[in-house]
Amino acid sequence: MHSRYEVVIGLEVHAQLRTSSKLFCGDSTRFGADPNTQVSPLTLAHPGTLPYLNREALEHAVRMGLACGSDITRRSYFARKNYFYPDLPKGYQISQHHDPVCSGGTVGIRLSDGSTRNIRLTRIHLEEDAGKSIHDQDPLQTLLDYNRAGTPLIEIVTEPDIRSAEEAFVFLTEVRKLVRWIGVCDGNMEEGSLRCDANISLRLHGDTRLGTRVEVKNLNSVRHVRRAIEIEVERLAAVLDDGGIVRQETRSFQASDETTFAIRTKEDADDYRYFPEPDLPPFHFTEEWLERLAASLPELPELTAARFRSDFGLSDYDARQLCEEKELCDYFQSRLPSPDLAKPFANWLLGPVRSLLNERGLEWAGIRISRAAWEDLLSLVAAGGISFSSASQQLLPRLLEGDERMPSVIASGEGLLQDAGGTEIEAWVDQALESMPDKVAEYRKGKKGLIGLFMGEVKKRSRGKADPRRTQEILQQKLNQTS
Ligand code: ADP
Ligand code: MG
Repeated sequence: MHSRYEVVIGLEVHAQLRTSSKLFCGDSTRFGADPNTQVSPLTLAHPGTLPYLNREALEHAVRMGLACGSDITRRSYFARKNYFYPDLPKGYQISQHHDPVCSGGTVGIRLSDGSTRNIRLTRIHLEEDAGKSIHDQDPLQTLLDYNRAGTPLIEIVTEPDIRSAEEAFVFLTEVRKLVRWIGVCDGNMEEGSLRCDANISLRLHGDTRLGTRVEVKNLNSVRHVRRAIEIEVERLAAVLDDGGIVRQETRSFQASDETTFAIRTKEDADDYRYFPEPDLPPFHFTEEWLERLAASLPELPELTAARFRSDFGLSDYDARQLCEEKELCDYFQSRLPSPDLAKPFANWLLGPVRSLLNERGLEWAGIRISRAAWEDLLSLVAAGGISFSSASQQLLPRLLEGDERMPSVIASGEGLLQDAGGTEIEAWVDQALESMPDKVAEYRKGKKGLIGLFMGEVKKRSRGKADPRRTQEILQQKLNQTS
């Protein structure tokens, strides 16, 4: 519909770093504490207090740059970004202006049609978060919670390389995966650990100059980012179609009714009166320190997935699925009984195990099923000792709940072993067919769809123990005999 226009998007992603204390003081960064309980005089900027740098935060910022292939600076310093806002106790934010910790780099994205692109990063810099203004708890007043003030953030700024709401969605999903993978941020968007501003403009196809942009602030879910961009693209296209002029402005997204509204026309960067932070010395990185950090990074998901394809012959899809989360990937690698079982083991993890974990709100790291137990379970299923459905529906929940006996021991104890000869299945089939003679007659007159009903009845009577393939064979045999 808007094929006249090319959509141009640049994102600014703020990620709260996973440190236990703040960027320039020892106050806790824990989320969800009572308001204003993590606020020493340093956070509150009382006169006479001085900031000191959290080394771990700096390391996290550099880790992210290394993971994205950015250039890491060797020396840098902090800058004051001056503005007044009630959630900013000092009256300025300590940030970086020139010489960010990381410059350049890319994040690769894969779109739903399978195509891939690299989104270039402009920079990654370190800065402190502001407090929180709370507008909805008192009818007359705005309340302030300074717990968040001073929490370390990295800001990841992209070049205007993103071309659709879908690409922005995929990019942010990828960034979330990456920060979690390397452990620098928990990626928890509901708690505000990852937030995004989207800069959006349109231009005619073929134009090389950028159009006037709008910036939508503080999007706190990947879904909101996609929706806000879709809405803005529509709105800007309508303005241009009417021969209007786009005003550069900052807008806010309202999730409740999915609208955006202007909050201010764009201030100039100069308004911030940036200058080098006089209370913090410049810092510099030695080569040796950088090398140690690089060596501490885990293998990145792309590489791990490639290794799974070549070492285990896994499909591209399975390999990438296993690398969606670090915990899943670690679990797969630490419990895989042997390379030739990679495919069935991946099927178990990506299928029944993952859905049970989701259903029960459990974590991969919390699963206590040992490698030996997996080996036992996989060979039991492969040998036909238990059907996949009773293994996944009856055995797996017990194992997840912490039953530490071998799966074959539990299966025989609980009567879950299937009878390979089929005599038990035959008895269930007979009972099932006897219980519904009318349906059997209808089936024999040609209503073949009833097979599903009979299968269901046998499953119920056998409590899932009957192997579906054997059941179907025996059912068909019996139904085709004319009695
Ligand atoms: P500021 O810091 O004032 O928001 P920057 O120039 O640093 O502005 O740009 C911030 C983000 O906006 C970057 O991701 C950049 O790629 C993007 N951007 C800049 N100009 C445009 C434009 N005309 N259209 C879309 N995105 C843009
Ligand atoms: Mg901006």
